[in-house]
Amino acid sequence: MRYVLNFKSNFTKESILAYKEALEKHPKKDNVIFAPPFCFLPLLEGYSLASQDISRYQEGAYTGEVSGNALKSLGVRYAIIGHSERRKYLKEDEVVFAKKIEQAIASGITPIYCIGETKEEHDSGRTLEALEGQLSFLFTFPQEMWKKVIVAYEPIWAIGTGKAITPNELEKIIAFLKEKIEVPLLYGGSINSSNLEQFKTLPHLDGFLIGGMSLKIEEVLSLLQES
Ligand code: PEP
Repeated sequence: MRYVLNFKSNFTKESILAYKEALEKHPKKDNVIFAPPFCFLPLLEGYSLASQDISRYQEGAYTGEVSGNALKSLGVRYAIIGHSERRKYLKEDEVVFAKKIEQAIASGITPIYCIGETKEEHDSGRTLEALEGQLSFLFTFPQEMWKKVIVAYEPIWAIGTGKAITPNELEKIIAFLKEKIEVPLLYGGSINSSNLEQFKTLPHLDGFLIGGMSLKIEEVLSLLQES
């Protein structure tokens, strides 16, 4: 199982150093992957790292962008692409995600591409249609390229709401997605230390993308212990 911990725009230098100090008491585990804000990546050197985003451009005059090569040089192994918060607040779409995925792969970074339906799509029975739509551009890439992607299924209505999907519903969606695309599959959406166990045993689920819980150091320490 892989656990990707997305800190989003949380922490300051002081608080991340305190978090790191607590982490150091435990052995480093490669399957727990930390995704801090860009500026804190070097502070977590030696841990398995993901960036929360990546530039769609290779390098050059793109103020504020962080290139795949820059990330790679910091030891970053994964990049989260297409998170629903970037779709919503930054208005990013599949045209942008395709370029970011290309850049990640060209830099030797594994893209973690996020997909997920809205509450409206979910409640009106259009989940599978929505997911299929979000995946479709990947198949414009050659197979050896899309095979390098990890897909994170994150129902938007479950992110940060405290309402995770049921294991039963997730199992059906995993089966659908595995049929469509044979790549590692993560689930994200209100995972916490109380509900994690019931999802861990689902067949064909390869791990989790975790937001809120990743800020709670005690819960992360027990994850490191078990993983
Ligand atoms: C996320 O933002 O990717 C996420 C899964 O958040 P949370 O765990 O807080 O629902």
